[in-house]
This record gives sequence, C-alpha cells and structure tokens, in this order.
Amino acid sequence: MHYISTRGQTRPHTFSEAVEAGLAPDGGLFLPEKLPGIADKLPAWSKLTYPQLAAEFFTLFAPEISNAEWHQLTAEAYRRFDSPDVAPLRKITDKTYILELFHGPTLAFKDFALQLLGLLYKRQVAKSGKRLAVLGATSGDTGSAAIHGCMGQDGITIFILYPNGRVAPLQERQMACTGAENVFAIPVPGTFDDAQRVVKDIFGDTEFASAVNLSAVNSINIARVLAQCVYYIWACLRLPEEARATAEYVVPTGNFGNVLAGWLAQQMGMPAGSFRVATNQNDILHRFFSSGEYRQEDVHPSHAPSMDIQAASNFERFLYYILDQSPERVREVMVKIKSGAPLQITLPKTSMHSTRMDDAQIERVIAQMWQDWQYVLDPHTACAFTDMAQDRISVVLSTASPAKFPDVVKQATGNEPTHPTLEALKSKPLKTWPMNADPAEVKAFIRRHKCDGSEA
Ligand SMILES: *Cc1c(COP(=O)(O)O)cnc(C)c1O
Repeated sequence: MHYISTRGQTRPHTFSEAVEAGLAPDGGLFLPEKLPGIADKLPAWSKLTYPQLAAEFFTLFAPEISNAEWHQLTAEAYRRFDSPDVAPLRKITDKTYILELFHGPTLAFKDFALQLLGLLYKRQVAKSGKRLAVLGATSGDTGSAAIHGCMGQDGITIFILYPNGRVAPLQERQMACTGAENVFAIPVPGTFDDAQRVVKDIFGDTEFASAVNLSAVNSINIARVLAQCVYYIWACLRLPEEARATAEYVVPTGNFGNVLAGWLAQQMGMPAGSFRVATNQNDILHRFFSSGEYRQEDVHPSHAPSMDIQAASNFERFLYYILDQSPERVREVMVKIKSGAPLQITLPKTSMHSTRMDDAQIERVIAQMWQDWQYVLDPHTACAFTDMAQDRISVVLSTASPAKFPDVVKQATGNEPTHPTLEALKSKPLKTWPMNADPAEVKAFIRRHKCDGSEA
C-alpha cells in the first residue's frame, strides 16, 4: 500500500513516511493510492472490540507494521477511554442514534486519532533515533488532543498555535496546564485560519522542516483520517442490519476531516446511505454543497468554536475524488482557492449533503434535547439536529462532551455540565508562549526549543 499526493507531484510514500511528513512535499495531501475493499470483512469485524477492529483496519493500510504490533498500538491508544465500548452508540429514539466520541482523555473526538498518532510518533523516534518536532494549529480540540497524545514522550516536542482568545477557556487549560516540559501552547492574534496559515507556511519551508524533523499534527495527517474511519465502521456494525445501507451519518463539520473519514469508509464498501455535513454559521461548506460555489468569507466566532473555519483543509481530499482523481485539476482548483477568488464546481452526484445552524438555533436545540430526552448536547453536536431524516435512521456523531462548553450549555439547560478531568485543571497554573502570527518568529522559537524542550 502506497500513499500518493492529491497534487500528483510527490513520489509514492509508505504509510510511515506519509505519517511522518504530514503534508506532502508538493503541498498536497496524502491519500491511499487505491482504497482497499472492506465489505467482505465486515461480518468477522462485527465480533471485534474497538481496539481490535482498529488494528485489523490499519493492517490493511500499513502492512509494514505487523498485525500483532497494530493490536498493541490500538490497545494502548484506546486504553485511556472511559467507556468499555470506546465509542458507545446510544439509541435516543427509533430513528436517532448518537455515536459518543468524547470518552477519550480530552473529551472530544480528536482523541481517536491523536492518541494513536502520539504512539506512532513514539515508534518512529524509537526506530530512527531522531528527535521529532510536532507542529500544529488548532481551533481548540485538535491542540489539546495532540498535546495529550505527545506529552511526556521522550524525543518529541510539540508546538501548538491557536487563535488568542478564541478557544474555549477549558480548551486552553487543556493545552496550557499540562505541566509537561515538551509542550508549548502558543496563542497568536487572529482566527484559526491565521494560525493555520503560519503552520502551512512553516511546512512550506522544506529546508527548515527537515532540519528540525518537523511533523504536522493538524487534521491533514492521513493517520488521523484513517483512525476516524474506524468509528464509522464500528457504528455501522452496531446498527440493525436492515438499517445499515440507508443510514444517514450526521457530522458536525469544520475542517472536513471527520465527515471525509465516513465518506471514505463508504467508498471502501461500508454500507451507508448518506452523510450530512452539519456546519455552524461559518457555512462555507454548506454553501458549497448547496450551490457548488466555494467562496470564503470572514470567520464569525460562534458557540461551536472548533467549527469556526472557512478554509477546510481536508476538503482537498474530497476534491481529488470529485475531480476524477486528477491531480492537474486539483492543482488548478487549489490555486484559485488560494487566491481567495470564488470558485464554481459542478458537483457530481455524491452521498454528501449539508445543513447549517446559527447560535440561536444551537441554544434552542440544546434546550429541546434536554427537555425531550434528558440528553445534554455540546454546541458542536447540536448543529446536527436540524432537518433530521424522517424515513431512515440517523447516526449523529457527537464530537465533544458538553462539559467542555459549560457556558452555552448552562444557558440552554439551566445546569452547568462538569467533568472531573476538567475540574482538576481549574487549579493548575496556565503556561503559554504568546507570539505574532509570523512564521519567522515561530520558526526561531521552534529552533530554540526543540532540542530538549526547556527554554533556551
Ligand atoms: C474538530 C471538531 C469538529 C470539526 O471536525 P472536523 O474534522 O474539523 O470537521 C467538530 N466538533 C468538535 C467538538 C471538534 O473538536
């Protein structure tokens, strides 16, 4: 199994090489050269535990790591989740299921990928003997999940940029109160997209990236997308068999990584009816799926900050498929997107569609779900609850614990949600390294701090 770039100007990489590089050297994103078929494996897979399923799945994508080692890695990665199912599927009504993806150490779905990615980094450092500098931008949850996947690990230093004042206070505490010496939480002015631009720019300096052995931890790493495929398959195998082929997966969406994973699983042969991209008021993807027009606007901070994005980085992977897997066409389109010009694409028929929700609706939905079903939603997951399919089963992916966003939830339900993990953070000192959104300044900082994780 080899990995190619969406832009077609990168030699084929092995899984480990693609994971280590993060972004492809030509600026594109890695994808498997060919998606393996999984349909015939599903009956056997339905009997596995979550970590076992993840191991079998990854063996298809990275046979260079033995099946036995995959089983060790996934057992370790999902050991710290606080539900025996890892990703419990809750039936709320006859037609609605919620797939709870917030039982990991940072209480958001990003733990699924980043607990595993941290272990893959560790494995790489052990093999190569080379120290690794991990760099990423976050709107909140990626950063904390990445930090919790890497903190305290020998040979790894992690640098996370985030928009100052625009991540939830508890998210910031999760990044900045670890006490770990190899963790640097870096607030920068602007929005998530500004932080992301700095990171992309730094990776564009390939000389620097290779000098400090830099690896990307934002949602573009192929290991993340693949790790996220697993919980769709897990959920599918827990649905009544007759419902599987028509089920709609509803996915609160920002960078498009989560929903892309489900769609890829369907392309591999997982039965599914459709995927709904549920956005907040930052609705570039909703506008795209409704009209074919991809037009960036300013980011407006919302109740669902991890979805406050107008430049969805995983979208390029989807483009690659809808543009007939033509790297030339992807390159053309990406040049236009980068220029900021609006873009019109003729959408082929796919199983993807979309909805949007503004802040007032988010509050109403949280209140209503609490009233009707005594189920507390976080504001990201709330975005899923509109235009629910009437004639088939919906599986809503719940991306975060409501306890991460206590203010909005309290406003809507009257009760402040809490979680012991988060309570423990409140008494710890906050340590951040504020910087300008300036690639040169951040690069200098990485050079100074990557060696031993202590201040120079
Ligand atoms: C990251 C995140 C999202 C958006 O996921 P994408 O993969 O970026 O689309 C939604 N909800 C929460 C809570 C998140 O942390």
